[in-house]
Amino acid sequence: MPVAPSLDHIVSLCKRRGFVFPGSEIYGGLANTWDYGPLGVELRNRVREEWWKTFVRKRPDMVGLESAIFMNPKVWEASGHTKSFADPLVDCRSCKQRFRGDKLLEDRLGIEGAAVLKLEQIQKMLTAEKIPCPNCGKSNWTDARSFNLMVKAYQGVVEDEASLVYLRPETAQGIFVNFKNILDTVHPRLPFGVAQIGKAFRNEITPGSFIFRTREFEQMEIEYFVEPGTEREHFEAWKEAVWEWYRSVGISKERLRIREHAKEELSHYSSRTIDIEYQFPWGWGELFGLANRGTFDLRQHQTFSGQDLRYTDPADPTKKFLPAVIEPSFGVDRSVLVFLLEAYTEEEAPTAAGGMEPRVVLKLDPRLAPYDSAILPLSKKEPLVAKAQEVYRMLLQETDLRLDFDVTGSIGKRYRRQDEIGTPRAITIDFGTLGEDDAQGKRDTLTIRDRDTLTQERVAIGELSRRLAL
Ligand code: ATP
Repeated sequence: MPVAPSLDHIVSLCKRRGFVFPGSEIYGGLANTWDYGPLGVELRNRVREEWWKTFVRKRPDMVGLESAIFMNPKVWEASGHTKSFADPLVDCRSCKQRFRGDKLLEDRLGIEGAAVLKLEQIQKMLTAEKIPCPNCGKSNWTDARSFNLMVKAYQGVVEDEASLVYLRPETAQGIFVNFKNILDTVHPRLPFGVAQIGKAFRNEITPGSFIFRTREFEQMEIEYFVEPGTEREHFEAWKEAVWEWYRSVGISKERLRIREHAKEELSHYSSRTIDIEYQFPWGWGELFGLANRGTFDLRQHQTFSGQDLRYTDPADPTKKFLPAVIEPSFGVDRSVLVFLLEAYTEEEAPTAAGGMEPRVVLKLDPRLAPYDSAILPLSKKEPLVAKAQEVYRMLLQETDLRLDFDVTGSIGKRYRRQDEIGTPRAITIDFGTLGEDDAQGKRDTLTIRDRDTLTQERVAIGELSRRLAL
């Protein structure tokens, strides 16, 4: 397993190569907001596409949904978020900075699951253990109090209680409130799942660590509806499937682990939760969560809305019941961060002159790389560029590949750039391609350079589309 990079390496590569920029940068930024640049947006799209392909398109038991971010505030009363979606907030009396009390204890004392502690317990431990403020080093804390994480907005022209809406803190509720619509229109049979990818918003007390914890982020969630009594087997199957997916797109098992939530730590809706954690540069952190939500959400929405949300057994129409729910919940941004951390490699590579030089290469799984291939004329000389453009146009027409075309700088620099953005194959058009020295027999052939092995292979232009499709 290669040495793990530091977060600074990733942040700097992301900025330098156009993956992620600090938000609103020309105005001095806005803390903890990030914008995805041309390369980042391709990577994100591919993460979403791979996920959707694996968990929706390739499965007979899944359908999709895209629900609104603004929802009737009653949704959040029914789901319990208005009352229970809160973190323990403490203020440092000396420097006035605010922190999450449970995270202060976890970070300082090296303990896990401090979210289970009551507000008074957090307060007592902060004082008893003399936990210092991460900002000023003093230990002078206010009482811990409950801080609701939902972001408020006002819909329409009047800013009053009646126009208050929340930006959804999870995509899941959009699925529950559409459960009846889905049953009535596509008539799925249990067990089945509904998947949704979309933005979620949480007024996190201490966002940070780049795109790991932000107040605006994206989730990929599945609500998997099952017959009550069968939750355990489906929970296990999803645990396996998700672990397998992260492994298949290149995450090493040494940096993944499963953490079972203690009973007291469980969210108000869950009877069992596990996290898949990743070993980030600062320690283990949640990448993915799997919860057994039981019938909690459908029951609550049935009560609050007064609508019948029961499922009818197709084999026996007299049998009506609320299905139980297993919820696999992924973060797009955390997944992107993990893919970048795993892929980032610094190594020595041979130079054309026979020496060695250091190179940075993003060894992304080819399915996630922003570009599949880059077309590179050996130099800026006109006949080379014209021929390379011809090849580029041909590939655009004949394939669905994502292609970069690059003529800026020396060929060595362009290879290094393609290595750093993770392009699996570079296609070089040289004088041999033009047939300038026919004795070489290279006319209408070009080289394919492999990002990881650095091997170069001569291929006929007529064969190129077929070769790249492999
Ligand atoms: P944490 O314990 O890190 O706050 P959580 O348990 O609140 O996370 P869930 O509610 O289980 O997170 O959300 C599901 C997934 O959404 C997480 O596994 C993570 O990938 C992603 N996620 C949650 N909060 C954030 C955030 N503030 N920024 C980025 N991604 C997030």
